[in-house]
Amino acid sequence: MADNRRDPTQRPSPDALLDAARREEAGVGRLKIFVGAAPGVGKTYEMLQSARAKLRQGIDVVVGVVETHGRVETQALLDGLEVIPRKRMEYRGQTLDEMDLDAILSRRPRLVLVDELAHTNAPGSRHPKRHLDVAELLDAGIDVFTTVNVQHVESLNDVVAQITGVRVRETIPDSVFDRADAIELIDLTPDDLIQRLKEGKVYVPKQAERALEHFFSPANLTALRELALRRTAERVDEQLLSQMKARAIPGPWPAGERVLVCISEDPRSAGLVRYGKRLADRLRGPFTALHIESHRSHRLDDVQRDRIADTLRLAQTLDGETATIPRSDKRIADDIVSWAHANNVTQIVVGKSSRTRWHEIVYGSVVHDLVRRAGNISVHVIAGDDIAGDPIPQKTVKTSRRRAGRDWMGYASALAAVAVALGAGILIRPWVGVETIDLVFLTAVVGVAVARGLIPSLIASMAASLCYNFFFLPPLHTFTIADPTNVAAFLFFTVLAILVSHVAGRVRSQAVAAMDRARDTEQLYSFSRKLAGVGTLDDVLWATVYQVALMLRVRVVVLLPEGSTIAVKAGYPPEDTLGDKDLAAAKWAWESNRPAGRSSETLPGATRLFLPMRTGRGIVGVIGIDSDRTGPLLTPDERRLLDALIDQGALAIERVNLVEAMDNAKRTIEADRLRQALLTSISHDLKTPLAAVLGAAGALRELGGSLSEGQKTELLATIVDESERLNRFIANLLDMTKLESGAIVPNSAPHDLADIVGSVLRRAGKILARHSVEVDLQSDLPMLDVDPVLLEQALFNLLDNAAKYTAEGSRIRIEAGRVDRTVLVRLMDEGPGIPEPDLERVFDKFFRVNKGDHVRAGTGLGLAIARGFVEAMHGTLTAANRIDRPGAVLTITLPVRIGARTLESAA
Ligand code: ATP
Ligand code: MG
Repeated sequence: MADNRRDPTQRPSPDALLDAARREEAGVGRLKIFVGAAPGVGKTYEMLQSARAKLRQGIDVVVGVVETHGRVETQALLDGLEVIPRKRMEYRGQTLDEMDLDAILSRRPRLVLVDELAHTNAPGSRHPKRHLDVAELLDAGIDVFTTVNVQHVESLNDVVAQITGVRVRETIPDSVFDRADAIELIDLTPDDLIQRLKEGKVYVPKQAERALEHFFSPANLTALRELALRRTAERVDEQLLSQMKARAIPGPWPAGERVLVCISEDPRSAGLVRYGKRLADRLRGPFTALHIESHRSHRLDDVQRDRIADTLRLAQTLDGETATIPRSDKRIADDIVSWAHANNVTQIVVGKSSRTRWHEIVYGSVVHDLVRRAGNISVHVIAGDDIAGDPIPQKTVKTSRRRAGRDWMGYASALAAVAVALGAGILIRPWVGVETIDLVFLTAVVGVAVARGLIPSLIASMAASLCYNFFFLPPLHTFTIADPTNVAAFLFFTVLAILVSHVAGRVRSQAVAAMDRARDTEQLYSFSRKLAGVGTLDDVLWATVYQVALMLRVRVVVLLPEGSTIAVKAGYPPEDTLGDKDLAAAKWAWESNRPAGRSSETLPGATRLFLPMRTGRGIVGVIGIDSDRTGPLLTPDERRLLDALIDQGALAIERVNLVEAMDNAKRTIEADRLRQALLTSISHDLKTPLAAVLGAAGALRELGGSLSEGQKTELLATIVDESERLNRFIANLLDMTKLESGAIVPNSAPHDLADIVGSVLRRAGKILARHSVEVDLQSDLPMLDVDPVLLEQALFNLLDNAAKYTAEGSRIRIEAGRVDRTVLVRLMDEGPGIPEPDLERVFDKFFRVNKGDHVRAGTGLGLAIARGFVEAMHGTLTAANRIDRPGAVLTITLPVRIGARTLESAA
């Protein structure tokens, strides 16, 4: 929700715009819901009439499923509409008719009618719920008309049940309702509706007749009608808001409200979540379901733990956020309030305590604490009576009980510890009083509590007090106690032992829980470090499957997109292909971004459970797990751990993908830049000399007779010069292609540097005509292992530059000397030098310091080629500027072969 106070620049909200655009563009179908307050108001009738109107407008309408319940008027409206035959499904000897989703998808109408949105499909259908079928139709770009009664909307489920005493099991998530592009309320006054019922116009199943009599009371109907009107109004309000946002219409918008729902293992928590959702909707703010894990959480049984996880999931399906935080040393109320403050919460929803007054006095009451400490946050205390059982909807992925056996070892060591204490007591009894003995036993009890937890230590304390009585309190070897002082001592001992084991056991269970969490956190942390360190996709996938397999003791596969489908990319143990059922489940999970397969609600027949791996940007892959254990695959704790692992894996996969995409983009840009440079250079460097040659040759042919000898020579000289330039250019391009393709293999042999320098100076004679060249080679240079052609070309390019970029008449100096195992050849000029930042870039292909340098024609390839050639001979070429005066220094370093002889020794 946008907070207008923080966003004074009245720009359209990107979310709202995106949403609007997405609907228009993405080819997503439009959903219209006909809402009614109760059965019999005429939703189907109204829907059919609208459909007929559409048909008359020439729109391609088909009927996917319409329940007429044998009513003649409704049946008549079906006339002339194309009806897709239903699919027969066999289930436990029964035949059930279901909407044929695939037939509609392949028929591809513009608009399809799907009656009764909240319907539950027959087992074995692709989706368990009809609203999921509808979602698939919409995604396929088909518009849908559908109907729903208001009591089927998830967040109203409780309220309707409270009003009418009838709870419907078939519900649709609020998000489906909110997703609708249009909602039409079919309104009928309660009197009219009751009249219809009396006339037998409302379909009533036989077994429900009596329940419905009560249901259709005027009071109920009025309440339901109001609910339907309100929910629709809320929805219209949302549309208005989203319109206002999209058009940047300024507020005041009710913003900044945040609802926090505190949930526990109490079955009524689901009702709290729904209340929180309604409250948040009314306030137009987000809501979060918060659970605080206390030491008590570790003593909850599996049903209760499951219930907490399910309640949190319910909050998620109602588009809320969830958080679980550990309890600090403070009161629970303090933890709630500090979380609320940290997260800008304005409203807190808690359940009314069902504990006895006595319990409240002893342990305090969270609700009272909360009300006292909440400050300016409003606290809603909800009775949330559980009306008709099972308020939590079916969960998406079933989880199993915690796998815990009885702690036989704990019991055994409890008894062993008491036996040891008994032995020690008997040994020291002659020297100490009986009061010391109970300390020995107490030590054993505390030891057991610390090492083995509460139950073993309680057993130990019982055993200890029996032993104490039997062996040490007179009369000995009976369980009777003679002395009244001893009776008191015995009683106090027993109470103390139990209290101590209680306290120590609780400390231990906290420590164990903390250790478990620390271990998980530690492993998660090391996993994320491992992921951060690996660079290739294969490594990321391998690390992910290995970690999941290791931590959850399951078999794992990961599937990633490949072309238009997905394929197995990694597995632990390694796995290449999946069975048909598994592949179908994996694909469904991939396409719909929801869990599928074993113990989920879609395609539960598959052997594996497939979960989408997603990041903020979307789904990146699918992970599949299975194990040999029967029943649900994971405990709630394991499910949370798996989610954390999957999230990290997904992020790492996305990172690798992004890096790769970036590399590709860079490479494309680089290639593009080169092509661009080549084109510019060709157009300039090929055309200019060619134009000169053509011009001169043309002049000679046309005016040949009338030209003086001098003019003729000059024109001929132009032709030769420019042709040479062309030739050099083409030679450059050829050299470059050879270098690029790796076709340059130096033909190295021992050569004398002086010979090569002499030969290049001769070749460059014409270029250097207007410069003076100084050569200073050390006299005892060793023979160099080089390809003379390549080295000569490299030197030629350097000389060419030195001549080209310096003033006429300036000096060019070539010197060479041996430094350790290398020979340095240095070429110095007296030109302007090369700008410091470009010293390295001048070796790039097509790089020229003065981009539009048309005076000195050049391609920007000379230095790149020279460096390529020198490096091919295992040398280096670098550029620098002179220190003593302006000018460039180009240095070639060539390695000297070990054991090479110097010139003199060779001679
Ligand atoms: P060509 O491919 O025809 O040699 P070019 O001379 O422009 O073209 P390079 O030899 O690769 O290309 O040189 C790259 C750039 O480095 C030149 O354009 C020039 O700006 C700069 N440069 C090279 N040598 C010198 C030098 N001795 N003094 C000043 N600038 C130089
Ligand atoms: Mg050059």
